[in-house]
Amino acid sequence: MNLHEFQARSLLGAHGIPFPPGEVAATPEEARAIAQRFGVPVVVKAQVHAGGRGKAGGVKLARDPAEAAAFATHILAMTIKGLAVRRVLVTPAVTITSESYVGVTIDRSAQRVLVMVSPAGGVDIEEVAARAPDKIHRLTVDPRYGLLAHQAMALGFRLYQDIAQVRAAADIIQRLYAAFGAVGGSLAELNPLVTTGDGAVLALDAKIVVDDNELPRHAEIAALRDLGAEAASETRAREAGLSFIQLQGSVGCCVNGAGLAMATMDLVKLHGGEPANFLDIGGSSNPQKVVAALKIITADPAVRSILFNIFGGITRCDDVANGIVEATGRLSLKIPLVIRLTGTNEAEAVQILTRAGFAALTDMDQAVRQAVALAAGRRSHP
Ligand code: GDP
Ligand code: MN
Repeated sequence: MNLHEFQARSLLGAHGIPFPPGEVAATPEEARAIAQRFGVPVVVKAQVHAGGRGKAGGVKLARDPAEAAAFATHILAMTIKGLAVRRVLVTPAVTITSESYVGVTIDRSAQRVLVMVSPAGGVDIEEVAARAPDKIHRLTVDPRYGLLAHQAMALGFRLYQDIAQVRAAADIIQRLYAAFGAVGGSLAELNPLVTTGDGAVLALDAKIVVDDNELPRHAEIAALRDLGAEAASETRAREAGLSFIQLQGSVGCCVNGAGLAMATMDLVKLHGGEPANFLDIGGSSNPQKVVAALKIITADPAVRSILFNIFGGITRCDDVANGIVEATGRLSLKIPLVIRLTGTNEAEAVQILTRAGFAALTDMDQAVRQAVALAAGRRSHP
């Protein structure tokens, strides 16, 4: 789950990481009032779940309250990377003398928490990794000891020469590491961490991604979810108990099991198609889930064919077949369906589908090829 900048800075602020003050506005009038209160200049910042807001024109420096209102009007009408801006953060502008990067994430191959710092901050860290990888310094943390003070100091020295700034950075890095663990993060980032004209070290931007699996034990963080900032299809899928990720292709996929769903997407690509989504209907035998899945997939206008790929284990093929018949009866489907099922109660499923006028395949490769061909508007040649 992604958090907005204003949410991340309030969580990290509670862990003692220094930020300039800031307030959220949903209208230009509110932005003007906040600018008046803080005194100008202020920075007006789009609150969306996307990086690179600065480059997209979503971060603006305003010299007076009227300009803050004008920038707010402009930014509140923007979409950045497909996401509508609904709020802006207004903060007093800071005079920047250097921008660095500090991030905490998980290094899966090391199976440890990874702390990264770079004196080349302000830009996307992926860009630094590509252009100047030697400017990124990494430390994997031994979970037995946590991030030790001398290690944080060593990272601080990668950013600054001034000892007071090194100490300030080390303190911030340790607090970020602690906050990362406390919120159940998969990423916590300060970019930029800046030095100001008077030598202080401050965070000007914060990003936190929370591991969804941590949400059940962090109700206060789960409550920060912003439904308006997520794809509607993903929200509906979560409510129906489906694992769903919206993608950009035209072959709708409805699969049971995450592994089979991944394999199905690979095969769609191998045969020249593009999956419209990842969807795992899970291991249960519940026709309602099939109905919900079909509704979500067919709501996407880019979908040109729908592929069911079901491996019956705990999931019973006849239940899925019943779900398909029930859902198509209700939805008056205009998109061709390709159904492949194999495993538990396969024969019953084929009977149910055949009676309802659907063809049922057992070969996965053949089914994927058909679905790709139909999405491309071609007749399939199995
Ligand atoms: P991002 O583009 O989404 O990462 O948004 P940021 O919050 O990181 O802002 C982008 C850039 O705007 C920063 O790297 C800074 O260079 C600049 N910026 C943000 N806040 C201030 C500020 O208070 N003063 C100045 N001078 N620049 C700022
Ligand atoms: Mn940033």
